[in-house]
This record gives sequence, structure tokens and C-alpha cells, in this order.
Amino acid sequence: MTTRMPLIAGNWKMNLDHLQAVAFVQKLHWTLKDAGHDHSTVEVAVFPPFTDLRTVQTLLDADKIPFALGAQDLSTHDSGAYTGEISGAFLSKLDARYVIIGHSERREYHAEGDDVVAAKVQAALRHGLVPVICVGETSEDLEKFGASAVPVSQLRAALDGVAADADIVVAYEPVWAIGSGQAATPEQAQDVCAKLRDVVAEALDADAAARTRVLYGGSVKAANIAGFMREPDVDGALVGGASLLVDEFSSIIRFQK
Ligand code: PEP
Repeated sequence: MTTRMPLIAGNWKMNLDHLQAVAFVQKLHWTLKDAGHDHSTVEVAVFPPFTDLRTVQTLLDADKIPFALGAQDLSTHDSGAYTGEISGAFLSKLDARYVIIGHSERREYHAEGDDVVAAKVQAALRHGLVPVICVGETSEDLEKFGASAVPVSQLRAALDGVAADADIVVAYEPVWAIGSGQAATPEQAQDVCAKLRDVVAEALDADAAARTRVLYGGSVKAANIAGFMREPDVDGALVGGASLLVDEFSSIIRFQK
């Protein structure tokens, strides 16, 4: 049986400038250290805004802080006349390991459809980045089609043309749960995460399904993380609001205690 290392990922969204980022990362590191956190049991990743990436990378490197670095988006293109866009090549040069793709805020405010998401997944893989592919249903989708139909179809589209040996992460984020304070139940999350794992098996193969981490995201906090992590197909969390609070995020990371 494959054991999957839990991943707790903090999506800062458009919060914390590069100076605030330094203070935050140092404080989180020391809080986890003081609590005796064992980094070999849970992977921690932070996703700062683009303008913080260089500063955070330098800090992680200099202070040997074992957090992985991720970006919140990337361009479908590798270089060229695309004003304002950021290439996956630049992100890998900064030692970013992950990149969030298909977050509901990009789908909603930047009209990113399944085709753009699929092209971004390909761009990430071309540059050795691990795409964190976000899928999830709105409350209208939930009412009309149930919980899993939309995320399953979004993931199928995102995985089109992805090789079986690709390193990917999937994040199930019901849109109605993001920033609302109303998380899914662990049972709801398990049900959809298991179906998403089946999609990985169909689109890639059984080995990929066994090793790919499927995260839950949507109003995760210290008080509910343990319930999600007890579910067999939930391998971690993508955390928004609570990832900006040092004590809260540190307690989420230490969900086993
Ligand atoms: C998110 O935006 O990815 C998210 C999960 O946000 P929150 O934790 O604030 O619901």
C-alpha cells in the first residue's frame, strides 16, 4: 500500500507584502519549532503572491526552513509578449515546487475555463512544477447536479494529455465552502475526494491514483482539520484565510496532536 505524505498548503491569496511575508514565515517556523513539530510527518507549503516569492525563497534557503514554496498561478506560455504574465520557467528558477491552477477565484474573476486550466497544467509540468489542480462545485451546481459531477468533469478536463508518471496534487474545494466559514463535512469531502482519485486512475493509472495527494479546501481551521484527515482519501488541506494566522495555521499543520 502506498503511503501518502500529508500536505498542508497555505494559499495567502493577495495578502502579505514581501516584508510581512518574512515576519510571517519566521514566526510560523519558530512556532512549529517550539511545539516540537516533526516535519517528516507533514509537508508544509506556502503560496505567497508573486512579488514575495524571491524574498521567501531566500529566507527559506538561508534559515533552512523546511517549507515548500508555491505560486498562485502561472502563464500558459513559456516566454514572449504576454504583458503581466509569469512563466513557469521563472517559478522553477525560484525553487518553487508547486503552483495552484484552477482556483475558483481565477475561474470566476478571470474567466478561466477548463481549456485554460488544462493548458496551465501542461505549462507547469513542462517546467518541473507540481500543479495543485483545484476543482469544486458552486452551490448552484450542488443543487442541480450533486457534489461530485462538476469537480469530476473539471478534473477530467485538466488531466487531458497528462502522462501517467506526472507528479500532481488535486484539491477538492467546494466553492460554497471557500471563505464562508461553512466547511463540507468530512464525509462529504471523503466522498468527492474518492471519486477524484478514481478520475486520476482512469486518466493516468492506478499507481498515479495511489500516490497522488487529494486535498480538501474550504473553511479549514484548527477545529475541523482532524476530522478531514481521518478520511482515507483526504491527504491534506488547501487553506486560505486560516493560513494567514500563525497560531491557527500551526495548529492545522499539527493536526495529529
Ligand atoms: C481557498 O481559497 O483555497 C480556501 C480554501 O479558502 P478558505 O480556507 O479561506 O476557505
